[in-house]
Amino acid sequence: MSVAEPLARSAARKIRAKRPVPVRRPSREEALEAVRTLIRWAGDDPEREGLVGTPDRVVRSYAEFFSGYDEDPVALLQRTFEETDGYDEIVMLKDIRFESHCEHHIAPIIGHVHIAYLPSNRVVGISKLARLVEVYAKRLQIQEKMTAQIANTIDEVLQPKGVAVVIEAAHQCMTTRGVHKAGASMVTSRMLGTFRDDPSTRREFLSIVGHSSGFSVSNS
Ligand SMILES: [Zn+2]
Repeated sequence: MSVAEPLARSAARKIRAKRPVPVRRPSREEALEAVRTLIRWAGDDPEREGLVGTPDRVVRSYAEFFSGYDEDPVALLQRTFEETDGYDEIVMLKDIRFESHCEHHIAPIIGHVHIAYLPSNRVVGISKLARLVEVYAKRLQIQEKMTAQIANTIDEVLQPKGVAVVIEAAHQCMTTRGVHKAGASMVTSRMLGTFRDDPSTRREFLSIVGHSSGFSVSNS
């Protein structure tokens, strides 16, 4: 096992350069007051008994829902294994459940991610792929962006021959408000390298994914 230093450093620079500008975090007291304001906006009294502990619980929930801002996705993938004994087939992790929040309504997005890559010579511990999903899910998201972020990070840090990421998820901003379409799920995919260029690799991936979840993805 070794840490691939120079490659990882340049990948880290690229991905960090894309990060949003850091924001000033409000104090905990300001966050609590913001929740009280929203309770009043909803039409209730934040001082009544049933609600008095709610701001504290909401603020602690936010720390959990959005813990991904404090984690570095590149550092997560930097420990790679190079002794693969020539293994050059698809590595795939299916059905990684995630919970995220849409950046338009701060409503839950709940679904599954399927990740595959074709290693060139480096592989990463499989649990790291699940952790990578967590880092991006625990932020304010849109599904298309999260799909691209997961694929791009794997591509830039591991530099495999190809990466494929498929996300299928239900958006509660759509099921509990607005058009109220319960049961609809959104599917997004990002294919890079051989998964984009080689139809047979793509087919192999989609047949493994499609078998478990019963959908197909177009060649976009
Ligand atoms: Zn939304």
